[in-house]
Amino acid sequence: MHLTKELFVIPHQKKFILYAPLKRAVAEVNGDIVHLLKRLKVGEDIGDLEKNLSQLKHVGIVTDDEIPTTKYVPETEYSPTVVTLIPSLDCNLRCIYCYSSAGENAGKPMSIEVAKSAIDLAIKNARAKGEKEVELGFHGGGEPFLNRNMGLVKEAVEYFRDQAELYNLEPGISSVTNGVMSQDTLEWVADNFDELSISFDGPQDIQDKQRPTASGEGSFSRVMETIRCLESKKFKYNLKPVITKDSVSRMPEIVEFFNSISPSIDHFPLEPLFECGRCKTSKTEAPAPEDFVKYLLKAREFAAKLGKTARYACSEVEGVYNYFCGAVDYGFFFVLPEGDVTSCLEICRKSDPRASAFIIGKYDWDTKEFVFYEDRIKNLRSRNVDRIPHCADCFAKYNCAGDCPARCYTQSGSLFDTSKNTDRCRMTQGVIKNILLEKLKGDNKK
Ligand code: SF4
Ligand code: SF4
Repeated sequence: MHLTKELFVIPHQKKFILYAPLKRAVAEVNGDIVHLLKRLKVGEDIGDLEKNLSQLKHVGIVTDDEIPTTKYVPETEYSPTVVTLIPSLDCNLRCIYCYSSAGENAGKPMSIEVAKSAIDLAIKNARAKGEKEVELGFHGGGEPFLNRNMGLVKEAVEYFRDQAELYNLEPGISSVTNGVMSQDTLEWVADNFDELSISFDGPQDIQDKQRPTASGEGSFSRVMETIRCLESKKFKYNLKPVITKDSVSRMPEIVEFFNSISPSIDHFPLEPLFECGRCKTSKTEAPAPEDFVKYLLKAREFAAKLGKTARYACSEVEGVYNYFCGAVDYGFFFVLPEGDVTSCLEICRKSDPRASAFIIGKYDWDTKEFVFYEDRIKNLRSRNVDRIPHCADCFAKYNCAGDCPARCYTQSGSLFDTSKNTDRCRMTQGVIKNILLEKLKGDNKK
């Protein structure tokens, strides 16, 4: 009998939580059992005392015969089939924490030539891989549905549909939006898109303060008009708030508010602000880790009473996650207005100090094709939590997967150094520990 790989002991009050993320097993034990496990770990024969470990054996925390866990392995070749276009870096809002400082130095919007070429590449890849579906998305660095972007958006959607039909592929079309758009655009989007993700921070005072329009007015009532229209059409959408230091204590209220206006939504993602972009000038701050944990747990509890879920990205305990996100994987392909390809939607300017790690290609105006920087792709793809020394002894490693590569890079200047990620690590570890304690309650002791 021996210990399963990656077993963590987390002190809690006078007891200990044993957590084996690769087995998705958690148990609460006393100090005697921890002592016994330490003896097993160094290869001692514990004789008859093995019988005290029968329940731990049942859930795989100790084992005679370790079955290796399957971990995610990226595809060998970068061959994206999900194309996301960023039409421009211009915006009708001036969110006080905007990661891309949208609306400032917005540069040129995307040309239809770049958009069509990106769509062609996704369709070509989907056909080569024998896939049945192909997806087109729109995103910021700016607001995709500005009136001045709509010529490009409409032409790209029409072209994408035609090409998908030509090659017998099922098209999926979605967008992220701030929800502030003209009535005509909203009607057209509802008729032509499959899904929207609306960046919306919650009750009026929070939304108006954090997400003002370019002319300095509140945006709440405009977003509410959009939501009412989508509800009336039974259109599929979700709501994504950014949680700041000022709004953190209101997370349960944000869930309650979202539930009241969008009864069809079952899941509420709650993400803490990461200070970057316009935060520098607005001095907007991220929530303190302890506050975020405290109020996220309250929000989760409140959502559960409604039969819904509220979640933070690093708090999944139902699977084994060794890669944080789909940067250059899962078939994603994010195209910036001037034709550069980014692996992270938060890095949408070539002047960004992280560009040399995250901008992975560009549209070549001579050959009319995309070219990719293979060394950068290889480097990003090689980032998984098993290759990050600072994460090696962290019990949350297979939930957090080393956190967002771009955010870690911002703080340490390296994809593989998470040692400066202190506040986000405290949030993640605090949330995961509490979720494990929840799992140990009631009849869920395994
Ligand atoms: S809506 Fe999005 S892109 Fe526009 S200012 Fe706000 S965060 Fe930036
Ligand atoms: S980034 Fe922090 S919380 Fe996440 S796995 Fe690494 S050490 Fe743990």
